[in-house]
Amino acid sequence: MEITKHFFLNLTILIILLFFCVIFFEKSKRTNISKPFIILFSIFVLWVFIQFSYHPVSYARYDLRIIPLVIGGLYVGIGPILVAATIILRIFYGINLGFYQTLLLYIPLSIVLWRIYPWFSRQVSARRILISVVMGIILGAFTVIGMEFENTHANLFDALFAYLVIPPLGIGIISYSIEFVRRNSEMRQQLIKAEKLKAVEQMGAAISHEIRNPLTAASGFVQLLQDDYLSRQKRKEYLSIVKEELISAERVIQDYLTFAKPSLETFEELNVKSELRQIINILQPLANQNSVEILTDFSVIGFIKGDQQKFRQCFVNVLKNGIEAMPNGGHLSITTEYTQSNVTIRVKDTGIGMTGEQLERLGEPFYSTKGKNGTGLGMMVVYSIVRAMDGNIWEESELGVGTTFHFEFPTISTLMKKE
Ligand code: ADP
Ligand code: MG
Repeated sequence: MEITKHFFLNLTILIILLFFCVIFFEKSKRTNISKPFIILFSIFVLWVFIQFSYHPVSYARYDLRIIPLVIGGLYVGIGPILVAATIILRIFYGINLGFYQTLLLYIPLSIVLWRIYPWFSRQVSARRILISVVMGIILGAFTVIGMEFENTHANLFDALFAYLVIPPLGIGIISYSIEFVRRNSEMRQQLIKAEKLKAVEQMGAAISHEIRNPLTAASGFVQLLQDDYLSRQKRKEYLSIVKEELISAERVIQDYLTFAKPSLETFEELNVKSELRQIINILQPLANQNSVEILTDFSVIGFIKGDQQKFRQCFVNVLKNGIEAMPNGGHLSITTEYTQSNVTIRVKDTGIGMTGEQLERLGEPFYSTKGKNGTGLGMMVVYSIVRAMDGNIWEESELGVGTTFHFEFPTISTLMKKE
């Protein structure tokens, strides 16, 4: 059972490699693997197999090279490249009888693989697995026939078992895994698409409703303004109402646009401290109006990567919510902390707080407890921006005590500049 033993060992190596590959691709969340990478990886596997092959006589080597050849040829269409690589690799192990047999078997194989690849990709999943396994059996059978001419003293039963069972088994396992991963990622894609469509649909309906209200109000007041005998005082009052309504419509559109385009276009280096200072400046008048005192405690350094415009928008929304939660005054404290891996930003208010149910609904489009003064889009925009910046956000809140938002963004480690 020498050959069988060898092949089982090789199969184990292959499955371990496969296992790491699957984990790697799941982690990197890439759906498309580049072709050059697959080619290099397959050649590496081929080399491992030829290196660890069984060679009872010096002029022949028996191994599982069939597996990468069949899988690469059928699934990726790189059969001829892999056959060429096999032949070149095989040269390094001597040009002998085994080498010529390799030429004899694999050159026709490369043509066959190349021809059936387009047809193969059109087949349904189960049939693809079957075709790959049958291909493995056929190649195994040819190899055993070749062995008979080599007089290697190998046990025929051993060789038959090794070649007719193990390579097809390996091919079956890999082929099944590929189909499984493909099906999963296809399903995930469809789900994401469906979700997105649904969201856009809901948003569209809600948006038109949200914009129609202020526009209707504005046009009503414009009609009133057409009255020639309106007093100056009234005219001024109506005009300011119209202006307010238009601003509120614009705010909805602005928030929606930021949501609809959550991917960041420009990634730049952001100095968290100076960005937050700017945002506080913008919001200072609003804070004064509510008698809110803004307290800060910033770490000396802290650089993250992101889109400046959106980072500002994100924190304007959060700080504004904090100020609005304290209509009778209070403290809004903003602190940052810096470690090698993360920059943490904490925004804490001493406002009205939220109930468990409110916390749960936070970030839902158009969820607002502020009536006419709110759009209910602010937090949704915050979540989408934080996600696009690879950040994390979590919140704590207690009714009547206050709310704290925690943000965590990856540090740019190579750029630990001092201000
Ligand atoms: P908007 O501010 O337009 O109402 P947001 O999405 O910004 O919409 O916030 C949604 C809701 O979450 C608010 O209406 C409010 O009820 C609640 N909320 C958000 N931040 C806070 C906070 N710091 N304290 C209390 N409630 C908050
Ligand atoms: Mg808000």
